[in-house]
Amino acid sequence: MRWSATLIPTLKENPAEAEIVSHRLMLRAGLMRRLMSGAYTYLPLGFRSLNKALQIVREEMNRAGANEILMPAVQPVELWERSGRLAELGETMMHLHDRQERHFVLGPTHEEVVTDLAAHELKSYKQLPINLYQIQTKFRDEIRPRFGVLRTREFIMKDAYSFDADAAGLDKSYQAMFNAYCTIMERCGLKYIVVEAESGAMGGDVSAEFMVPCSAGEDLLAVCPECDYAANLERARPGPLPEAEQGDKPLTEKATPAMKTIDQVSGFLKMKPKKLVKTIIYKAGGQPVAALVRGDHDINETKLARVLGAEVEPADPETIEKVTGAPVGFAGPVGLDIKIIADQGVLSVCNFVTGANKADTHYVNVNLGRDFQPTEVADIRFAVEGDACANCGATLDLKHGIEIGHVFKLGTKYSSKLGATFLDEHGKEQPMIMGCYGIGVNRIVAAAIEMSWDDKGIIWPMGIAPYQVEVIPLNMDMPEITEIADKLYSELTDAGIEVLMDDRDESPGIKFNDADLIGLPIRVVVGKKAMEQGCVEIKQRTDAKPRLIKPEELTAEVRKIVEFELKRAEA
Ligand SMILES: [Zn+2]
Repeated sequence: MRWSATLIPTLKENPAEAEIVSHRLMLRAGLMRRLMSGAYTYLPLGFRSLNKALQIVREEMNRAGANEILMPAVQPVELWERSGRLAELGETMMHLHDRQERHFVLGPTHEEVVTDLAAHELKSYKQLPINLYQIQTKFRDEIRPRFGVLRTREFIMKDAYSFDADAAGLDKSYQAMFNAYCTIMERCGLKYIVVEAESGAMGGDVSAEFMVPCSAGEDLLAVCPECDYAANLERARPGPLPEAEQGDKPLTEKATPAMKTIDQVSGFLKMKPKKLVKTIIYKAGGQPVAALVRGDHDINETKLARVLGAEVEPADPETIEKVTGAPVGFAGPVGLDIKIIADQGVLSVCNFVTGANKADTHYVNVNLGRDFQPTEVADIRFAVEGDACANCGATLDLKHGIEIGHVFKLGTKYSSKLGATFLDEHGKEQPMIMGCYGIGVNRIVAAAIEMSWDDKGIIWPMGIAPYQVEVIPLNMDMPEITEIADKLYSELTDAGIEVLMDDRDESPGIKFNDADLIGLPIRVVVGKKAMEQGCVEIKQRTDAKPRLIKPEELTAEVRKIVEFELKRAEA
């Protein structure tokens, strides 16, 4: 491709709308332009990179034995009513009505549609296992789209769904997808970690996320530097805190007028937040429950729900007042006559402060065991900086990450609700056992840029670079230069190398700056000075200096570098 014949609108200045590196560089390098909040047009360079990521995803899915299909983006709302997820996904779903007032949604995901397909087309164990996947645009009504293509209202997703006859089959299908995902991440040049994750609205109980650690990521991860433990913070299990000796100071009431928050109380009593214990009243299965965590910790409601075996929601003020006999803000475990779940971290403090179930009053010198007895002690909090790894005791690193892929063992959540059953070998009807596996393809491109850039621009990994080589003829007014450049361009192209030639009549400074900005892996410069020695210059994006090479040796050298880089990514 010749620069003069394509559209690469590079920008000298940083666009004000861009908050993070990948967003800034994708705009500056002319990869995309914004149409409106959360919607971008991919320009030729950006689309080439996106397509390369898509191609890698497709090749590895096919290699793993999955079958590509294409399902509609517009889905009947009835399917979502049947699966029970309409409320669960709530306002993130985009709804529309047609001229006959029929109600549809724009698919945020396709479990319902594919399970309905399976219910109609898969009848016998002989048709299982099977894995169906698609590459489709998904829609989510994000409250606040941001970070360029990391969080948008529409995005391209590869979603695969496996159907098995039994749990052992699901294990195999899941592992095949897991392995394919590792290869995809590697071929796209992404440095990634796999973390334990919560299944959330998808359901099921085993799931893992493929994450690219970087500061722009919206997910928080707890990663052990010593063993292989890594988990999304939503899921991470902190190691137990050392238990405190019992304190012996007498339980005392303190007046704390209008002091309701941890900060207010700890400031007023001049005690660190970790010496306070929060008591939060929830409703679980219609019953009030008290959850206790240290003042410097936060309750993880997903963990609490798992301990209680029921959905939880914070209790309304009325319930809190009824249960504690005090206004909201003064709840405490002493004398409380409901189920009490204490976080393990509460055992690490003694002589602590809690609400006294009395207006404007707290207790000091509360001790677990002496002053109250929890129904259960469990891990119900989020891990924090400084927490130990539950496996090996090393201090966990907390870091941000971009979620690229997520694999789930769904089990029978959808098949049982949507009637996807099959006849087993004995002629008995069984629900199919499902897995689902997603990759956010747009995020691959953004994550690759977040991972690899310098102050001049993008540093593309070879696997998803828009082109592999940029040829830059300087001195466009010298026919001997443009002739050689044209010849090299043809030779490289004929050899199957992807070449962009900057044939613009611009100054060397502008061409070099743009070359660094768009960041193609190999740069070849045809200029007067090197030509006097019968050579052209070749430089990889990360090399400090170019080296000279004879034009007749160039194609072989470029091919060698391309092949080496592609292999290195996969190794
Ligand atoms: Zn560890």
